[in-house]
Amino acid sequence: MKRTFLFIFFCVNFLVAQQTDYLDFKTAKATLYIDLENKEILGDIEYSFDVLKETDSIKIDAPNAKFDYLRLNDAEYLLDLPNMPKFVGKIGGANLKPSKNNILSFKYKVKPNKAFYFLEKEESHQVWTQGQGKYTSNWLPSFDDMNEKIEFDLSIIVDNKYKVISNGKLTRVEKSKGYNRWYYNMNKPMSSYLVALAIGKYDKKVEYSKSGVPLEMYYYPEDSLKFEPTYRYTKQMFDFLEEEIGVPYPWQNYKMVPVKDFLYAGMENTSLNIYSDAFVVDSIAFVDKNFVNINAHELAHQWFGDLVTATSGTHHWLQEGFATYYALLAEKDIFGEDYYYWRLYEYAQELKAQDEAGQSTYLLDPKSSSTTFYKKGCWVLHMLRERIGDTAFKKGVKKYLKKHQFKNVNTDDFITEIEKASSEDLSGFVNKWLVSSELHYNDLKKRFFAHKAIVKTKNGIKIDSTASRSYYPINCEGHEQICKVFLLDSNDSFRNAKIVEQLSEEHISKSTFFTKDIKTRQAIAQTLTDIPSELKTDYESLLNDKSYITIEIALFNLWRNFPEDRAKYLNQTKTIIGFNDKNVRILWLTLALITEDYEPDNKSKYFKELTGYTSAQYGFEVRQNAFQYLDQIQACNNSCKDNLKQATTHHNWRFKQFAKSLFGKK
Ligand SMILES: [Zn+2]
Repeated sequence: MKRTFLFIFFCVNFLVAQQTDYLDFKTAKATLYIDLENKEILGDIEYSFDVLKETDSIKIDAPNAKFDYLRLNDAEYLLDLPNMPKFVGKIGGANLKPSKNNILSFKYKVKPNKAFYFLEKEESHQVWTQGQGKYTSNWLPSFDDMNEKIEFDLSIIVDNKYKVISNGKLTRVEKSKGYNRWYYNMNKPMSSYLVALAIGKYDKKVEYSKSGVPLEMYYYPEDSLKFEPTYRYTKQMFDFLEEEIGVPYPWQNYKMVPVKDFLYAGMENTSLNIYSDAFVVDSIAFVDKNFVNINAHELAHQWFGDLVTATSGTHHWLQEGFATYYALLAEKDIFGEDYYYWRLYEYAQELKAQDEAGQSTYLLDPKSSSTTFYKKGCWVLHMLRERIGDTAFKKGVKKYLKKHQFKNVNTDDFITEIEKASSEDLSGFVNKWLVSSELHYNDLKKRFFAHKAIVKTKNGIKIDSTASRSYYPINCEGHEQICKVFLLDSNDSFRNAKIVEQLSEEHISKSTFFTKDIKTRQAIAQTLTDIPSELKTDYESLLNDKSYITIEIALFNLWRNFPEDRAKYLNQTKTIIGFNDKNVRILWLTLALITEDYEPDNKSKYFKELTGYTSAQYGFEVRQNAFQYLDQIQACNNSCKDNLKQATTHHNWRFKQFAKSLFGKK
């Protein structure tokens, strides 16, 4: 990546040493004016730093920023940009002897082209940032090096129609002529990539953890009814993780803010979890898709990633493996042991698939896949804990966090504390699981697989609940009848769904529909696509299930199998929207349009609505659904095509790729 440095001195030392060996940046006070109309930032920053060893250069990352003023301690410089290196040349040497509390301040202007996003949402503005992998320095001159930790205090000036959320505690809001200035204060240092802000129209509710930490839950004003399901279990997870990790939550508060068109599911900015608004859900959507895992993951990062930060990509698993593992523990506390082991089972399948594709990577390889960093990292911690026991594991983790808090860590730092706490030599474990890329799938498998757990009884087969670790799907191949009987007997929703996935259509009968379990019924809806007439009534009952996935599949399959009842099915599902990506509504509009004689007078209204969903006013998930269906019924008109063209430049690369390939077809 091309980077522009604020000033480049003669850089002899930098080739062999990090700037952090010479300079220690302590605090940053930044005032940012966010110009929503021109998509531009005017900033004013004051950094304080100590000089540890004599040096003649300071490097700050600031691609694309323009500077017009700079002050280093008592010396002021007016910068003539094209000649800047000459000017900075004069600063060199003299002032950079070992010393404390030096002040560097400057003004700058930037139109960020990544890491900072200006969006439109229903005729208003929204802004959010994404530092990891995209570099905060694109909007805030700072340090792309994770090892430089600074206490950042941001104050942000923006149109008073909007709320501003940033790291730390909001200490005051100053009002003046159409603008508000929001002062945020941090007490502790963090890496630059964790600095963040979000601006938009939000309401919030605050709960307090058992330990008194404010949990600030933000939501769009129009989503007040989705508030409870979206933030369900937040306090429980927070209290659980504080207790489980054994180190108090390190920051002043924990804020959660949904944003439109986010690049990932969520991001663990210090004290500020910015997440995709696709995870804002109502009670029905909650069953299939919710914020619980993402919330727990980003929350766990507040310790693993934010409090202690990996020194380099080699130790990335200390962030992602830990966040994945602790999120799973928090979910176990909510959803139970079955859930925990079935997830581990799924992670193992993902690792196995990667291995079989010849793409296994090792945990300490900075270029590992995210499957390795997240899923194998999680498995390693699960196995390590099994090996040394709860007490030693928790003691070691606690020591590791305490010893390195607000600093950077590597894998040795962690292993050392675990070895001390357990009095075990872990070199064999480290070599096998962290250094080798071999998966050792059988070692994973024996942890959830036990044949003897499935036993025959008079009435069929049963899970022997006294057998340990029976979390493994029954292989139904050649045993379909036994599997069917088993379905009626078992109340393990995960296992049942996995059984149904393996059954072929001819093995689904009236008795299979006997289950009330929503996930098992969803698997039935998915498996049975050609519906025999004797199962018609049973299948129709799926339209009443409290699951938007089930409803979407059932509506489509019923519509396709029973043309004579199309109007009935459409009437029955007319008011259902579905997830935030409007999955049910968009399918419904498409079917209503292509169903002959169905509400002919409303067809143009429905077409307008469907085409409207392709516009940038909507989130990319909605747009993608609308584009896909319009393409399938070959009805992408000029306005749809314009929107598609515009989508080919979207900041979300997956959506951009989708739009490009569809646009290529047109
Ligand atoms: Zn993560």
